[in-house]
Amino acid sequence: MARRVLVLEDESSIRGFIVINLTRAGYEVIESETGEEALEKLKENPDIRVALLDIMLPGIDGFEVCRRIRATNTRIGIIMLTARSQEMDKVTGLMTGADDYVTKPFSPAELTARVDALFRRAGGAAPEQVGEIFQEPFLLNTRNRTLAKNGQRVKLTQVEYSIMKMFMENPGKALSREEILDMVWGRDYFGELKIVDVNIRRLRLKIEDNAQNPTYINTVWGYGYKWGF
Ligand code: CA
Repeated sequence: MARRVLVLEDESSIRGFIVINLTRAGYEVIESETGEEALEKLKENPDIRVALLDIMLPGIDGFEVCRRIRATNTRIGIIMLTARSQEMDKVTGLMTGADDYVTKPFSPAELTARVDALFRRAGGAAPEQVGEIFQEPFLLNTRNRTLAKNGQRVKLTQVEYSIMKMFMENPGKALSREEILDMVWGRDYFGELKIVDVNIRRLRLKIEDNAQNPTYINTVWGYGYKWGF
């Protein structure tokens, strides 16, 4: 399988730094300087598994690129490149469908670890067993990696799917945020716990009848989350 990654960054020095390090780590890197160009290249290379998107760009910004990618592609892993001062932007990025973010400046090790983690999840992993998990009103198909609610397809990102699968395999069990981070992002992932909350917030918007008053994904205060009753 092609280890193909897209990098969207208008600053050539940062882009060069990313390209060198990901190439060293064994990736084939496709570069773009603008959002429009990135969307073109994704169309030409549908086997790109992970995209790194800068936010501040000439033309359409990284959030808009993320939104447009997600409108048609839920499989690709998306990492936003944020500046240290853009705390809110991280959350906005994740709400528009990104899976992760890296704060500039970042080390080669951090960058590679994040891309590796997403790459594995975005199709690099071994095929899963055929099967379905049914918990009214949800039907999770672990072969297609799809979710339906009352027979209606719910579009999920790969991270959201992994969270749903974890919940549906552990009904009624209180899971700490650390456990969730381990199970969904992997033990070698060194991101922040906040990413769990942001993804669950987004997942609630998709699967709950009323995200303000969730009944499926329940908060266990000071600890984590619990699926169901
Ligand atoms: Ca920029």
